[in-house]
Parts: sequence; structure tokens; C-alpha cells
Amino acid sequence: MRKATEPEAKDPTVCTVCQTIPVSVFALDYDRPMNGWPAFLEANGIEVLTDDIGRDAITRADAHRLIEQRKQRDAQIAEERARRLVEKKRPRAPIGIPAPVGSNASALEVMMSYDQEKNQ
Ligand SMILES: [Zn+2]
Repeated sequence: MRKATEPEAKDPTVCTVCQTIPVSVFALDYDRPMNGWPAFLEANGIEVLTDDIGRDAITRADAHRLIEQRKQRDAQIAEERARRLVEKKRPRAPIGIPAPVGSNASALEVMMSYDQEKNQ
């Protein structure tokens, strides 16, 4: 995990403390990553800073990016779910049993023989 003491000043009108969010606070709005925060932040190329009172923090820009990424992912999942639901509801053509040609068998006999053929 990379560590830096001072976040890069991107907006000179906002002090460095206000440009960061402690990881502990960000964690309130973001599900805990499976492999833990350090590995997750490292994997996303996010630098871990130390805020004015010594907490691990990330820049608000990085936090914003993570939240946007998650929103996009959630939207994709919802879209996929909706698509599957529509597919499930679509009526399927009924599957019938082909009528035997030139046979005097009753409907029951035809169905019974069809089941036997299927089970062979
Ligand atoms: Zn400030």
C-alpha cells in the first residue's frame, strides 16, 4: 500500500483536508471489498494518504470515481436482471406431440407411446 503524507493540491481554494475523505468514512457508503480496503485501493491504483489527524484517507476525486464505477455496475446488473425477467415472461410456443400418420391410436395411446420413446 502506497502512502503519502500530503494529498496533491488540485483546487487551491480547498485545503488538503477537504480534498480527502477518510477511508473509515468512505466505508460507510461503500460495501467492504472482499479482500479488504488496502488490497482494493491498491488494485484500483488509488493512493492512500494520511489526513490531518493521522487517518488513512483517499482523495474525494478517487472516492467519486469509485462511487461512479459502482453506480454503473449496479445499473448494468439491474439491466441484465430486467432483460432476463422479460425473457422468462415471454410465452413459449407450446411443445406438442406429433400426430402419428395413418394410425388409429387414441390420444392417450399416442401420448403413452411418446413418453416411452422419450425414456428409451
Ligand atoms: Zn478545508
